[in-house]
Amino acid sequence: MTDAQVDILIRNGIVLTMNPDHTVIPDGAVAIQGDHIAAVGGPATVGTCGARKVIDAGGGIIMPGLVNTHTHASMTLFRGLADDVPLMSWLNDHIFPAEADLDYRKVYCGALLACAEMILSGTTTFCDMYLFEDAVAQAARTAGMRAVVGEVLFDFPSPHYGPLEEGFAYTAALIEAYRGDPLITVAVEPHSPYLCAPELLQRAFELANRHRLPMVVHLAETEKEVQDLRQRYGRTPVEHLETLGVLAPNVLACHCVKLSATDIQRLQRYDVKVSHNPESNMKLASGIAPVPELLAAGVCVGIGTDGAASNNNLDLFLEMDTAAKLHKVHRLDPTVLGAETVLRMATREGARALGLSHRIGSLEAGKQADLILIDTRRPHLTPLYHPVSQLVYAAKGSDVTTAIINGRVVMENGRILTFDVQKAMDDVNAIGDRIAGRR
Ligand SMILES: [Zn+2]
Repeated sequence: MTDAQVDILIRNGIVLTMNPDHTVIPDGAVAIQGDHIAAVGGPATVGTCGARKVIDAGGGIIMPGLVNTHTHASMTLFRGLADDVPLMSWLNDHIFPAEADLDYRKVYCGALLACAEMILSGTTTFCDMYLFEDAVAQAARTAGMRAVVGEVLFDFPSPHYGPLEEGFAYTAALIEAYRGDPLITVAVEPHSPYLCAPELLQRAFELANRHRLPMVVHLAETEKEVQDLRQRYGRTPVEHLETLGVLAPNVLACHCVKLSATDIQRLQRYDVKVSHNPESNMKLASGIAPVPELLAAGVCVGIGTDGAASNNNLDLFLEMDTAAKLHKVHRLDPTVLGAETVLRMATREGARALGLSHRIGSLEAGKQADLILIDTRRPHLTPLYHPVSQLVYAAKGSDVTTAIINGRVVMENGRILTFDVQKAMDDVNAIGDRIAGRR
């Protein structure tokens, strides 16, 4: 590599590759050419190659960008609007009325603010479900973020597209509009088995398969959902989807809090992917997903924040910390969900959950260059015995200083380079003032 000229060279850092062998390079470097990683190695090889731009990691950590496998980015608009209320009141009295008044611009502004928050806290890819989803894709594009986007589909008329038929037409148009896009992947996203009729779920699944795209669905989130489905169909939510023939490796099931032992076996058998959202499940008092059991069964589990109204932040570092600790106290066993496992869930397993593992999730030559730098020269990160433990149990999103997505530096030294963050905050504050004024 010595004589080669690459676009970006990041050196003088501890490289956590998150590759299958969990290789850690203590004094490592990463070379980026165009949109992909050209080489990962030590100071004598990669560290000395010529580059147009050199970034000194200052002895900190160089790692893959985090993957948020489930969010509703634009719900930043409703952050803190209604907290500490029962789930059904939260939805029916606060969130649904506020959402009825959404439009393209509001969704765009909310999503762009979410992109700022996510980039600043080390997330480089997010999987979104919402209304006016083209606005979310455009916000991600403005921010330079990687995203999986999908218009939410359900039985009742949408405040965006109206009748369901239009929702499918909109989804089909999204698929065409972003085909081959370097950053945006479209998914087909029926809300859940309790808000979607069997025919809707099957049609969504067929559409996803026809285009080889993910299908994203909320599944088994609450006890009430399980009871409702049992009453309506005589089956658990997972059994219901199995009966409909819509369980497959390209299905991402979000939450999966209430699962029976046989549900877990079913998810494993069909290689369904799961998004674990511990803070949302805690805040809405939904329960604790059986993540250790899912992992023991061999199910791929990623981590998600869910929307900002039920979290109330999009910081995956905090989410990792919560995930690791929640399962320990729940099992009264400090050995479950170790830091290494949790960090893998937030990186390579998250990428796999979104069907993107061939492109992102680890630092390996040939993969897309999505990576972050963490400054460890801070009191709360000193001393540094185990980088992985430090990241999960001591680090915060604000320790991330630099983010590169698809080979482009989108944040450097804590400053976002792709758009005006102050304006994004001003825009959302103005929308928030109007929402507050109506109440
Ligand atoms: Zn959700």
